[in-house]
Amino acid sequence: MRLTENISCECKMDGLTAKYLLQSAPCGGANTIQIRNYKKREDKMKAWQHFCTITHHKILVAKGCFRVGLYRQGLLHDMSKYGWTEFRVGAKYFQGTRSPNNAEREEVGYSSSWLHHKGRNKHHFEYWIDYSTDGDGKLAGMKMPDKYIVEMVMDRIAASKIYMKEKYTDRSPLEYYSPNKDKIILHEHTRELLERLLNMLAEKGEDETFRYIRREVLKK
Ligand SMILES: [Zn+2]
Ligand SMILES: [Zn+2]
Repeated sequence: MRLTENISCECKMDGLTAKYLLQSAPCGGANTIQIRNYKKREDKMKAWQHFCTITHHKILVAKGCFRVGLYRQGLLHDMSKYGWTEFRVGAKYFQGTRSPNNAEREEVGYSSSWLHHKGRNKHHFEYWIDYSTDGDGKLAGMKMPDKYIVEMVMDRIAASKIYMKEKYTDRSPLEYYSPNKDKIILHEHTRELLERLLNMLAEKGEDETFRYIRREVLKK
């Protein structure tokens, strides 16, 4: 599918045209072939929109990671979304207003895409849930390396920016986190650093928080 064909992407985000997004996406070529294989125009459109959504997210996370020196993680963030297992679900359940994983969860009873994703991406605290070493057989959060906690913060900033659009403020990632904070399974260090960074962002903004991450958190 060439962009000049009758299916074009509506999304013009962050001053980047869809064409640029396609060219810059790491697996853009493979997904273009996959999108071409969809028979119905409606399915093609949803696949294309999903592609733009995940790529826009990836570019925002990369920008944040690059600002704190996490270049490798910035480039590789969420790469598994471009693989067929996750991409087909995202394209099938694309709605534009919420995660396709939630739609799959409602229809199937679980999200195969999310289970695949969280098992492979270390910036999700769910990746680090395992049997507690206390020997009580309970599940617990293992200690996450700081570089993945930082990537998780960048992930939350990017997701909040896309979700809130012009209503986004430096407080949004903290407000998104707070209602669920006692329900999630986190190692005490992960919880402390995540909350420290989200609170700092809310109070002091990106420049100061990112400087602190670069100089204090990642330099150790
Ligand atoms: Zn992810
Ligand atoms: Zn992400």
